[in-house]
Amino acid sequence: MTYLTHLECSLTQQTYDANQLIRLSNAGQPLLARYDLAKARAELDRDEIMHRPASMWRFHELLPVSDPDCRITLGEGGKPILKLTNLGRTLGLTQLYMKDEGQNPTGSFKALGLAAAVSRALELGAKEFVIPTAGNAGGALAAYAARAGVTAHVYMPSDAPLINIMEVQMSGADLHLVNGLINDAGREAAEAAQEGGWFDVSTLKEPYRVEGKKIMGYELAAAFDWQLPDVIIYPTGGGTGLIGMWKAFDEMEQLGWIGSHRPRMVAAQSEGCAPVVKAFHDGAEMTGTWENASTLAGGLRVPAAIGGRLMLRALRDSGGTAVAVSDGRIIQAQKQLASQEGTFVSLEAAATVAVLEELVAQNWINPDERVLIFNTGNGLKHRILLT
Ligand SMILES: *Cc1c(COP(=O)(O)O)cnc(C)c1O
Repeated sequence: MTYLTHLECSLTQQTYDANQLIRLSNAGQPLLARYDLAKARAELDRDEIMHRPASMWRFHELLPVSDPDCRITLGEGGKPILKLTNLGRTLGLTQLYMKDEGQNPTGSFKALGLAAAVSRALELGAKEFVIPTAGNAGGALAAYAARAGVTAHVYMPSDAPLINIMEVQMSGADLHLVNGLINDAGREAAEAAQEGGWFDVSTLKEPYRVEGKKIMGYELAAAFDWQLPDVIIYPTGGGTGLIGMWKAFDEMEQLGWIGSHRPRMVAAQSEGCAPVVKAFHDGAEMTGTWENASTLAGGLRVPAAIGGRLMLRALRDSGGTAVAVSDGRIIQAQKQLASQEGTFVSLEAAATVAVLEELVAQNWINPDERVLIFNTGNGLKHRILLT
């Protein structure tokens, strides 16, 4: 059962039938799923939902899949928020938390988005999938496609982490290593999709990966007893997590589950690829293309993001900001978090710690504010050795 009603162009607000396999709007922009939230408000009980088994799918009424048999699941969602007491003490913060999405199937939060997108596309008749990826999204698609018994074609930079290459091969997906970055992989994937008639689940180029990722917003609200934190720092590549959470906050307010208070949303990027940081501080409406993108944090190596406008809107409407840090500081922060808290997080997530340090130093964050950082992937997925 779902309250999904239609899709809406994120730029023009033109509406589209949700019961069709569709990717972008006629304006070439991301489509966002819309639900009958007035009806949901009258019928749904947030406390009853939180008593269901911990899973992304406990929010199924607010996800796009209507037939329970179409839900492809590996146990995604319901991952914990950990209080970071030791790191908090070091930084002089009394309320520092981390939502640990690295505990998801395939070791990253990409599982949330791809569980939703694959399930919904299968419900609408898709038979074969294709994805361009920095690594983790390909691993997640390969796993969910294997579970569904359908074929996945994965286009990945040839310098992606070895573990991503392995997980795609192990799942039996068709792997293409591309000389170049995720946008080069995107071009090859799009051509192959056209030829093969495959469904392309590129970031924000179909409406439902963002729906899976928005569940992180619902979960964090519930974990803080429906009082959103003051600051959220998020490692930002294509932006689905940021955009999804921002959408979830809006939906929850319409559902009467939360009030109008919003966290200041912060995008964390690497200095080697920081198109969101640049556009934010330039006052631009849309992100540009970052030339010669280079960072060890593969998930942040997204030189051109179709969701740029939506990300910038969320950052600005929330009173947030965008900060880039060097790879050197990211590596240091990864070690610091692991040694102080026992949490070995991905390099992307370590960027949020380095950004946090920067914002504390600037007094942009007050000592008693409630701050939430995101671990988006397990540190075990990298192959970087500290020397
Ligand atoms: C993909 C990825 C990101 C970036 O996520 P977006 O929501 O696309 O901005 C961050 N961290 C990890 C580990 C990733 O795999």
